[in-house]
Amino acid sequence: MKHFDLTGRVAVITGGNGGIGLGMARGLALAGASIAIAGRNAAKSRAAVDELGALGAKAIAVEADVLVEASCRELVDRAAAHFGRLDILINNAGIALRKPPQAYTAEEWHRVLDSNLTSAFFCAQAAYPHMKRAGGGKVISIGSIFSVMGAPHAVAYAASKGGLVQMTRVLATAWAADNIQVNAILPGWIHTELTDRAQREVPGLNERVLARTSAGRWGEPSDFEAIAVLLAGTGSQFITGAAIPVDGGYSIQA
Ligand code: NDP
Repeated sequence: MKHFDLTGRVAVITGGNGGIGLGMARGLALAGASIAIAGRNAAKSRAAVDELGALGAKAIAVEADVLVEASCRELVDRAAAHFGRLDILINNAGIALRKPPQAYTAEEWHRVLDSNLTSAFFCAQAAYPHMKRAGGGKVISIGSIFSVMGAPHAVAYAASKGGLVQMTRVLATAWAADNIQVNAILPGWIHTELTDRAQREVPGLNERVLARTSAGRWGEPSDFEAIAVLLAGTGSQFITGAAIPVDGGYSIQA
């Protein structure tokens, strides 16, 4: 089906070298896209590029630290220069810090906000001229159930993820006339490096997640392959400004 065919399309995925980002990269690769994955860990990125290459995709790694504004702009421009165009940006890089709000330092607050939210804005800004030139594009940002829900130890994380949803809505309205659709995905509890320790060490977390997630399991990076293809392809031309939960029912459980 043509709506799920990404042949000739070029995607940049921040944090595409592991976890949910690599899950989405696999989906885009299987749909025919060329992919630049951006991260700090060169060994992880090399392994991811090999894996995407084995799926038949053209893939490159761009070493980048999204905490640095210039690095965000550079990674987007380098990907576009390498492949000759840019159609899809996935703002996926992110970090979490578990702490009560009263214990946060200013540095910690800024590190979480800058990693998760400010980086996404700079990457989107950098992507805009390339997408406009290509006649349209797709910006997909990875929020969280904490975009819309609260938890005592997640003040900076939840603020950053809530901000991503509002940024998504604003960019969707601003860039609609340029045929750029902007959406957010809100994952529930997904088993990745980000949550591995918490799943094992935070008392009661695993049981709470299993009890509240209607699907009765933690999510896996592979659960994001298809939604990424949908939001990156022509099947989603009339979907913009949306924040779509991919959480196994976590957020609808009373
Ligand atoms: P991972 O820790 O596996 O992936 C995070 C990715 O972000 C890594 O690839 C990392 O690359 C990259 N990254 C972090 N900081 C930077 C930086 N400064 N510069 C460049 N890259 C950076 O976690 P997940 O796959 O779980 O997380 C992916 C996204 O999904 C995040 O935004 C997270 O908040 C979100 N999410 C995750 C949930 C979960 O349950 N796992 C739930 C809801 C949302 P490198 O190691 O190379 O720095």
